[in-house]
Amino acid sequence: MALALVWLRDDLRLDDQPALRAAFRQGYAPLPAYVHAPEEAGDWAPGAASQAWRARSLAALDAELRTRGSRLIVLRGPSLDALVALAAATGAEAAFWCRGYDTPAEAHDAAVARALRARGLRVEVFNGSQLVEPWDIATRHGDPYRVFTPFWSNARDALRLPSAWRAPACWPAPPAHVDGIGLEALGQPRAGWDGSAAHWTPGEGGAHAALRRFIERALDGYTEGRDRPAQPGTSRLSPHLHFGEIAPWRVVAEVQAAHTPANAGHVDAFLRQLFWREFACHVLHHFPHSVERNLDPRFDAFPWAAADESALAAWRAGRTGVPIVDAGMRELQHTGWMHNRVRMIVASYLTKHMRMHWREGARWFLETLVDADTANNTLGWQWVAGTGADAAPYFRIFNPVTQACTFDPDGAYIARWLPELAALPVPLRFAPWQDPVRLRHVAPDYPSRPLVDLAAGRAAALAAFHSTVGARR
Ligand code: FAD
Repeated sequence: MALALVWLRDDLRLDDQPALRAAFRQGYAPLPAYVHAPEEAGDWAPGAASQAWRARSLAALDAELRTRGSRLIVLRGPSLDALVALAAATGAEAAFWCRGYDTPAEAHDAAVARALRARGLRVEVFNGSQLVEPWDIATRHGDPYRVFTPFWSNARDALRLPSAWRAPACWPAPPAHVDGIGLEALGQPRAGWDGSAAHWTPGEGGAHAALRRFIERALDGYTEGRDRPAQPGTSRLSPHLHFGEIAPWRVVAEVQAAHTPANAGHVDAFLRQLFWREFACHVLHHFPHSVERNLDPRFDAFPWAAADESALAAWRAGRTGVPIVDAGMRELQHTGWMHNRVRMIVASYLTKHMRMHWREGARWFLETLVDADTANNTLGWQWVAGTGADAAPYFRIFNPVTQACTFDPDGAYIARWLPELAALPVPLRFAPWQDPVRLRHVAPDYPSRPLVDLAAGRAAALAAFHSTVGARR
């Protein structure tokens, strides 16, 4: 049977995997290969938490392949050399993979495709991760979208779900002489940022279980539940989607299948949120500079505060003295994930009250999130900072105390992640500096006042905005 390389990257699943499906449908025996080439990810590569997730996801994939008679071939990069060598060693006649959408990935993929074609292989590249590819839709003038709502209404109309595909139960084994470097060679994740194994089940099985759990327990209350960080009101699918452990079209199909007249609003709200992921990919593809630079160039003159290592360290460690901010940063530390509402609050405090450049926060999130994703992360940070294309205006500054009162009304989220404050009653738990004596008694080690005073920080941020960006409107 002729062999086909199937190069797996951020599409670590067997079902609904277009590259694998193509190999089987065209009569090839697939050789599932993963190339360890961290240096190819560039400056904005996801960090330690993400690497820990990837290692566990690859192990789950390999285990699943072995139950079917195959195994994962792990190679050391550079990808181009590794794939060319694998093709030569096995006599593979074809190579299939799913494409990436940022500029470095596209250029790199094209070079790999050229090299393999030059050696006589048939090469086919597929969409394995998006509901709509970045070039599928455009504005009436043929331009990329910069605003979410029209993107969403056009994209949902353009949506065509591929039919479900289940990988065969029995696979041909790869040739015995092909061994690769083995998963162990990927190395141990850096201590401390292991994405807290107890909180997650990386891999395709874990992804499907998370989707089922969400549909059974949270979908019917999503519109309100999604803004309550103390509740399991969202799907927690983000790392699974990032690593391609489940196809987004499978998520849509299963959520739509659970649609009833009573939950229609929740289904719609969830799909809308899923399309933010599509929008992020669209924006990053068309505006690759947005990883580094403000999408709104008026912010190029904005007077960000000079990077202050000790202030940044306090923010990262969850020691700003603002409980909802600190609770979010501790959730991140313990689980490698943070609730979306709280991501917005901590990002707002950093970029507005502390007036730190959004890149500082974006880098820390990429290092520590298990769902670290250049497209979603860049969009999220530029949205909160007000520097993005379709962003919250900079002058709309979240008050973290009001946010906590509204979205964590009984203070349960704060108590979970800052147990030292659990003995404080609500609403003091949201603003403990208002009773310093009690705070000192209950939590002597917790900061006695906010790192940046809320009123003063807000006033300084607004003044900075009005003297630069606001003056040029
Ligand atoms: P659900 O509410 O269940 O949503 C379902 C899916 O839709 C998510 O899994 C995700 O893939 C997608 N989604 C939901 N909200 C967004 C959004 N605002 N933008 C893009 N996609 C979205 N998401 C990441 O996946 N990786 C990141 O690195 C990332 N960084 C962020 C940084 C900031 C500052 C902010 C404000 C948001 C960031 N997000 C990021 C978006 C969002 O917070 C997470 O996708 C969401 O919290 C994941 O939880 P969930 O899977 O339970 O979401």
